[in-house]
Amino acid sequence: MLSTDRAPILARDLGGAPLTTADVGAEYDGIDAALAASPAEAELFAVLRRWDALKRRVTAHLNRAELRFRQDTADAGVGSEAAAATALSAAAQSRDLAIKRRLLAHPDRAALERVFGSHVFALWQSDALAFEPALEDDVVRESALFNEYTQLLAGVTTTFEGETHSLKSLAGFAEDSDRDVRRAALTARWSVYEEHAPALDRIFDELVRCRAQMAAKLGYASFMDLAYKKLGRTDYGPGDVARFRDAIRSDIGPLAQRIVDAQGAALGVDAVMPWDEAVFDRLPPIAMPAGDGEVSRAFAAGFASLDPELGAFARLMFERDLLDLEARSSKAVGAFCTFFPDARMPYVFVCPTGTSSDALTLVHEMGHAFQDYSARDKELVEYVVPTAEAGEIHSMSMEFLMWPEYERFAGDDADRYRSQHLRTMLLTLPYLAAIDHFQELVYAQPDASADDRYAMWRWVEARYLPHRRSGDIPHLVRGGLWQRQRHVFGFPFYYIDYGLALCCALQFWTAARHDRAAALAAYIALCRRGGDGPFLQLVESAGLRSPFAPGALSDVARQAADFLGLQA
Ligand SMILES: [Zn+2]
Repeated sequence: MLSTDRAPILARDLGGAPLTTADVGAEYDGIDAALAASPAEAELFAVLRRWDALKRRVTAHLNRAELRFRQDTADAGVGSEAAAATALSAAAQSRDLAIKRRLLAHPDRAALERVFGSHVFALWQSDALAFEPALEDDVVRESALFNEYTQLLAGVTTTFEGETHSLKSLAGFAEDSDRDVRRAALTARWSVYEEHAPALDRIFDELVRCRAQMAAKLGYASFMDLAYKKLGRTDYGPGDVARFRDAIRSDIGPLAQRIVDAQGAALGVDAVMPWDEAVFDRLPPIAMPAGDGEVSRAFAAGFASLDPELGAFARLMFERDLLDLEARSSKAVGAFCTFFPDARMPYVFVCPTGTSSDALTLVHEMGHAFQDYSARDKELVEYVVPTAEAGEIHSMSMEFLMWPEYERFAGDDADRYRSQHLRTMLLTLPYLAAIDHFQELVYAQPDASADDRYAMWRWVEARYLPHRRSGDIPHLVRGGLWQRQRHVFGFPFYYIDYGLALCCALQFWTAARHDRAAALAAYIALCRRGGDGPFLQLVESAGLRSPFAPGALSDVARQAADFLGLQA
């Protein structure tokens, strides 16, 4: 039986024992004392398992509180609970770091690595190299600056067609059928950025200097080196990523130009302007399963038709109402999958936008959820979910593996959805490279002026996005496009993770076109591994080529061009 009329289980009903700072502190004291007593091997393993159980409880507590907050942002009590859980988690993290340092230098480390694997030590080493107590004030400041950016952009308004609009509501015109409306709305949108550019420049400048200072305190030449440690990138470095960007430029760039040219021809315009970018094809939104038994059944049947294990998992999620897909006014925007390591179950949250991308968003998050579920019994919590670039492989690949099932939701429009999905993904790659290269330039010269940074953006834009135009929008002409990208402000150097994952997801797409069963088997095996190895090892074990290997992108680009009828 699938859910037809029941409401999603809200986080408060998901169980989980309450956790207090005092309880957690006492448990850490106990673990510290047990480690300090130089236990024999068997007891040492037991202490590690006790610590792992504590980390699961703290993570689950934080994830429940954050989910609850996003499910009902209007409830002030829930907001303060989430803040308390964040503080508890931050305190736990510094206790964790002390334990990690102790284990990294432990005389029995070899025995521990034999039992728990060496990858967790590499992850702990990265953590140990990314933080010192001397950075505490800088971390608080960095977070306050990012909050300032978020609040500034959430609060700004402008007048458009006689009505007051936020940046979010203006974005709703991006797919308007009237080109003049799209153009006027986008111009209004960027005039907001232009008006607030001094504040945005000041916030970003302070963030860059703050991060450069943290890197200097830890003895790094540049913040980029510290960022790689913070992201847990244990088996590749900036040189590899630079080669990947070059491959995007040479292997995807020409195809991106042909995609944009075809888009212009389809729209009947001389050139695709910034206000045309979101309009490929005006596809109707696919209904979301919330409260709709027929659509729920179609989704569950789609997963089941792909593979029995995927089908059983989807049924479990729908039956236990572990998806919140409703549109509610107090719900936060966005979509994510979260995991409760104590209950060993994932939970999917999607705030529907009413656009054609909602169904794909659900499939994406279900990919994350299936991976969490598949790896839920890993012995260490660190091994359940991999580092971010590997983690996005499961979600992005699921989007492509679901292709043959699209008729179930989209009927006669299925071909158009598939084509638009592939074109959108390919066009994303050069933008990801531009954002990454921009950050490398920014952190190489932390003392640069705001104007220097606009010039840096114009340089990367010319390099990776020659198919993009700025039209007559002054802030875009100046080089301000990057200011809309939250990752640049809040999650430095993270953005290329999507590109590395996408290179792998496109390989699953090509593999599934030749042998769907084999591709699915490799996908499921990869999900089961969770994060028990570093990125490149996970990729290799799934039979995929490393994104850093020559030809990894040119091969998928050729097949994509064939599929789209856009050969050179
Ligand atoms: Zn994702």
